[in-house]
Amino acid sequence: MVRTFSELDLDVDLLAAIETKGYSRPTEIQAKAIPAAMDGLDVLASAPTGTGKTAAFLLPTLQHLIDFPRRKPGPARVLILTPTRELAIQIADEARELAANTDLKVFTITGGISYDEHAEILGKTQDLVVATPGRLMEYINAERFDCRAIECLVLDEADRMLDMGFGPIVDKLSHECRWRRQTLLFSATLEGKGVHGFTEDLLNEPERIEASPSRRERKKIHQWYYRCDDMDHKIQLLEHVLKSDESERTIIFLKTRERLAELREKLDSMQIPCCWLQGEMAQSARNNTIERFKSGKVNIMLATDVAARGIDIPDISHVINFDLPRTADVYLHRIGRTARAGKKGSAVSLVEAHDQAMMERIGRYMKEPVKERFVEEMKPKHKKPAFAVKKKKKKPMPGAARKAKKSS
Ligand code: ADP
Ligand code: MG
Repeated sequence: MVRTFSELDLDVDLLAAIETKGYSRPTEIQAKAIPAAMDGLDVLASAPTGTGKTAAFLLPTLQHLIDFPRRKPGPARVLILTPTRELAIQIADEARELAANTDLKVFTITGGISYDEHAEILGKTQDLVVATPGRLMEYINAERFDCRAIECLVLDEADRMLDMGFGPIVDKLSHECRWRRQTLLFSATLEGKGVHGFTEDLLNEPERIEASPSRRERKKIHQWYYRCDDMDHKIQLLEHVLKSDESERTIIFLKTRERLAELREKLDSMQIPCCWLQGEMAQSARNNTIERFKSGKVNIMLATDVAARGIDIPDISHVINFDLPRTADVYLHRIGRTARAGKKGSAVSLVEAHDQAMMERIGRYMKEPVKERFVEEMKPKHKKPAFAVKKKKKKPMPGAARKAKKSS
């Protein structure tokens, strides 16, 4: 396996940009996926969040654009599909940084941007376009976006796109890009329902690449949970975590916008400043939130799951699950917001009695139970639900039991 970027046969312009970004050596997924993609193979790759998947698909696609420069102006040649607009913006930013020493043109096409603004973009020569599926499909249907020049299609966070119901649109988009020569699919997990059938249709004898985080990259996430009796108790424990010394920059996850609004008011009344991210927010407000949080003007961000998907904000010290997620894989995604690129982080869950079963399920999914902690003066009053600690025993079928009795 390659150990340095210079072994990767990348253009000097890209290598210089990598150096500017401060990446000293490729992460495991980069070391594995970049050579395969540069060989022109289809790639099906999974690696944990925060391990550098973005550059793993951007570098080989940018290299291709450099190797085969366009001869005349025209439509996009690389299309990257991603589930949310924040993620699209983030990928485009990274693409621009990596392509800073080239003439390549990078654009985004996502919801939340005016049609006028897009009209201008769509008329220009584009090399690499990062898009969310819905809005792009609108432009294709209106014959305003031309997929015929797409040579490379990248699906980022494929599992999320499927979860969000983008499967059929992504299928259609991939059909629109049928003249492409390469497809790269990246995902944090390949386990979600339907990912299998989906990848089979899209990819052509893909190189399967899986990166387990190396010791260097393995995330040092300290995970634990507190049991809470009710909302007030939850707030007390939340305040305790927020006021602890290690707590620097924190994301708090809630399950709905209503819950988010409730907590926002509560924090407001406690004079704890926070910003928030939720679905159906104006683009400028979302950008503003992310900017304030990233720059450190505010150190607490409340978020719903859809709004927070895939966003890369460096140096998050704590992820707090004020509400547990609906499924265990979302837990993994949430806590993946902290401890990015080898840094330390904490993930704290606030668990009410009715959440206990979910907490155990999360432990099984993570292949390691999440430990319970107590705060001395804030211990829960309710008893830990018993069903949750019991190990599931396989009960024999009633019929089988009877038969067994008879024969003994
Ligand atoms: P993923 O898509 O796997 O969740 P990202 O591509 O968003 O991860 O990268 C996570 C963070 O790691 C980003 O801040 C990125 O700039 C950084 N990063 C990526 N590659 C490297 C590298 N080779 N060395 C150091 N940091 C890196
Ligand atoms: Mg990513």
